[in-house]
Amino acid sequence: MFEALSESLESAWKSLRGQAKISESNIQEALRDVRRSLLEADANLQVVKDFIEEVRETALGAEVIKGVSPDQQFIKIVNDELIKVMGETNAPLAEANKAPTVILMAGLQGTGKTTATAKLALHLRKQERSALLVATDVYRPAAIDQLVTLGKQINVPVFEIGADANPVEIARQGLAAAREQNVDTVIIDTAGRLQIDPEMMGELATIKKTVKPDEVLLVVDAMTGQEAANLTRTFHEEIGITGAILTKMDGDTRGGAALSIRQISGQPIKFIGVGEKVEALQPFYPERMASRILGMGDVLSLVEKAQEEFDIADAEKMTQKIMEAQFDFSDFLKQMRLLKNMGSLGGVMKMIPGMNKLSSSQLEEGEGKLKQTEAMIGSMTQAERKDPDLLSSSPSRRRRIAKGSGYSLNDVSKLVTDFQRMRTMMQQMGQGQMPGMGGMGGG
Ligand code: GDP
Repeated sequence: MFEALSESLESAWKSLRGQAKISESNIQEALRDVRRSLLEADANLQVVKDFIEEVRETALGAEVIKGVSPDQQFIKIVNDELIKVMGETNAPLAEANKAPTVILMAGLQGTGKTTATAKLALHLRKQERSALLVATDVYRPAAIDQLVTLGKQINVPVFEIGADANPVEIARQGLAAAREQNVDTVIIDTAGRLQIDPEMMGELATIKKTVKPDEVLLVVDAMTGQEAANLTRTFHEEIGITGAILTKMDGDTRGGAALSIRQISGQPIKFIGVGEKVEALQPFYPERMASRILGMGDVLSLVEKAQEEFDIADAEKMTQKIMEAQFDFSDFLKQMRLLKNMGSLGGVMKMIPGMNKLSSSQLEEGEGKLKQTEAMIGSMTQAERKDPDLLSSSPSRRRRIAKGSGYSLNDVSKLVTDFQRMRTMMQQMGQGQMPGMGGMGGG
């Protein structure tokens, strides 16, 4: 994400490096670079103009800080300004004084609205908040089924009365059902069109009037770039939004959309979608996004995500096993699944500074390896998973696994050798036999 933007901003920094102080003349060029890179990232023209003006004023007014180079200082100024434009802090989801909280989802078709509806419900469930999803998209074939399927997947009820009903009526009845069932939050998925049309807006406005939502979230596809600005403006003027979800941030998107939304509507991006899975939703943090734009990686998001997935007790047990060389294929599989739960390998890698330069073919190769290993372990018996020695001593077992997993005998043998080598190494590390690795015990 944001690779292109990061790269061109890098050249802007370079033009400032080595300058003694921030002056009108050296800032001129740096500002031009920043402006160009933001425009290349598909940010809205007016948004960029305002942004550049703010940066110019702050930079020129700033005293040159001792011990900091002008380029570092300029980065800080651009960073602060980016954070400001995107809303300073994370804006939490509205919560009504009296249940249920009503959330209305709006947006064009294909942006990820239905997926985001389910993602939000899962997010709420993790906070012990119950949800009811309401399916009002009677126009797109299978939209109702899609929501029902997603609901089942995350164990959240879906209210629907078929595709022949009137969307406003469905929303009204859905809300009534939520009240009756004492549900904490009701999320109403609405119909999208491929383009903004008056009929869609009219219907959305009527639904809004009927259910009086606490939150109207506009779902914006990050890939739409420049278009995000117009879309936000229209929806905000005609319906009035309270926030946005920026989806498909895992793709090859440019940064522009993130900058436009709050600047134009005054309303914050509350979440970002980072994948097709229902777990792939993250709170939007302007500060982190700014670091990402500036190419500093997003370590914080990664740490948070890892913490969510990783149980401390589990980690301690794992360390113990490693030290006693009991770490087996089942543990290995578990670790791998953890990594997978964190999203695609690419998604995780991109958040690590320096790693965002990995080519997509390198990432694909990594993902492919994971899949291959998972398949091979999947074909092992429980006994073999527990005792890798069974495999190193028996070619026939390895052959059976190769056949079962669809990979070659060579692949299986290599996995077994690699695994044993890794295990020995881990054990040595655990026992402090490697220089500087003595304190690894205890998790
Ligand atoms: P809707 O028409 O707005 O309801 O869109 P859907 O929820 O049906 O999503 C459209 C497509 O986008 C589906 O294939 C989703 O799996 C995909 N999608 C949704 N959100 C994301 C996301 O954050 N990242 C990626 N990569 N795909 C997404």
